Amino acid sequence: MMRLRGQQGQQGQQQNELSDQEFLNLFYNKLTISNFKDKIKTEADALRYCQASGILPTRNTPPPYCPKHPNIAMKILNEQNRNQLGFRYICSLKPACNIKLEPTKNTWFYNANIDLRQGLHIILCFVAGLRHNQAVREVEVDDKTIGDWFGYLREVQEVVVSQPRKIGGIYEDENGEIVSHFVEVDESQICNRKFNRGRLYNTETSRLWIVGGVCRLTRQAFMVRVPNRTIDVIDYLLETRIELGSILITDAARVYMGVHNRIGMEHESVNHSLNFVNPRNSAINTNMIESRWAAVKQKVKSYKNTNYVETCIAQYLYEFEYLNPLKEKYSYGEVYKKLVSDIVRVYVGPDPNRRPLELVIDDWDEVIQ
Ligand SMILES: [Zn+2]
Repeated sequence: MMRLRGQQGQQGQQQNELSDQEFLNLFYNKLTISNFKDKIKTEADALRYCQASGILPTRNTPPPYCPKHPNIAMKILNEQNRNQLGFRYICSLKPACNIKLEPTKNTWFYNANIDLRQGLHIILCFVAGLRHNQAVREVEVDDKTIGDWFGYLREVQEVVVSQPRKIGGIYEDENGEIVSHFVEVDESQICNRKFNRGRLYNTETSRLWIVGGVCRLTRQAFMVRVPNRTIDVIDYLLETRIELGSILITDAARVYMGVHNRIGMEHESVNHSLNFVNPRNSAINTNMIESRWAAVKQKVKSYKNTNYVETCIAQYLYEFEYLNPLKEKYSYGEVYKKLVSDIVRVYVGPDPNRRPLELVIDDWDEVIQ
C-alpha cells in the first residue's frame, strides 16, 4: 500500500505492484456488468485473478503428489510456452518415474474452450442473473458455450447444496436461556398437469412432490424432491435434515400425526381447512416455507422441462441461503467471491490427494425398502 504512492497514472504497473489480496479487493469492489472489462483488461489480468483466487495454481501452490507415487511430491518443470502458467509438474523420482502433470488438471478451466477472461466474464453474467441471449452478447461467445458454462455453474451450486447438514436444533437466546428453533416443514406439488399439456409425460413425472423445511431464525432451509409422501420418506427427511431439539411446525396432514412419538421431536400443527394459524399460539403457522414454493415453481416453469427440477431447487436454495443475504448488503462482487470459493472446493486441481466436494444423493430405494 505504501509502495503504491507515486505510481498513479501507470495503471498496468500499479496493478502489478498490488498484493493478491489487494488485486482481488479491487476486482470485487463495486463490480458490475459494465465495468468488468475495465477490471479485467487482458488475459494476463484474468490469469492473475484465477491464481489469486485459487482457481488456478501458482508456482507457490504446494505441488501435487505423483499419481503413481502417492507419497512423492512433484516438482515444478519450467516450460515457458507449454501453457499459460509456464510450467508443468514432474515427479521428483525422475528419471525413474518421469510422470508429468498439467497444473490446470481438474481445475475449473481444464480443457476449457474459452479464454480465462471470457470464463470469468461468464461467471459474472451468471451472478448478475443475465439470460442466455444477454450473456451471449455480453461475452461474445456462442449460445452453446453460455449454456454449457451456466450449466457447470449450476452443478457447483447443486454440489454445495447437497452436502449433508441439519437445520434447527437449540440455541441460547439473549437471556442466556436454551430454547428450541422453530422449523416449518411443508410439502408442495411442483409441477401440475396443466404445465405438461401437449407433451408425453407419464403420470409420475407430471406429479412431482417436494418436501421443504426452513428454520425460522437462521433461515437455513432444505428442499428435496421425494418419490412419495409416505411416513418412511417424511421421517427419513426429518431425521436427516433437522436437529433434535427443534420444534416442528407442519400442517395437519395425516403423515405428521404421531411424529413426536416416532422421531422424538416436538411438533405443532396448523389445520389449514379451519384457520391459517394455530388458535392456541399465533406463532404456529407455516407461512415462511409456503412463501418459498412460489419462487421455486417460477424457476421450474422457466425451464419448461421437469428433468431440471432438482437443478432448479438447488439453484433456488443456493440463492436463497447464500446469495440473497449477501446481495442485500453487498454487491455482485460478494456473490462472485462466494461462487468462486465454491468452484475452488469442487474443482480442486491436479493433486490426487485433495478430495473435491461431490454431489450427495439420497438413496430412496434404501429409505423405502
Ligand atoms: Zn512418480
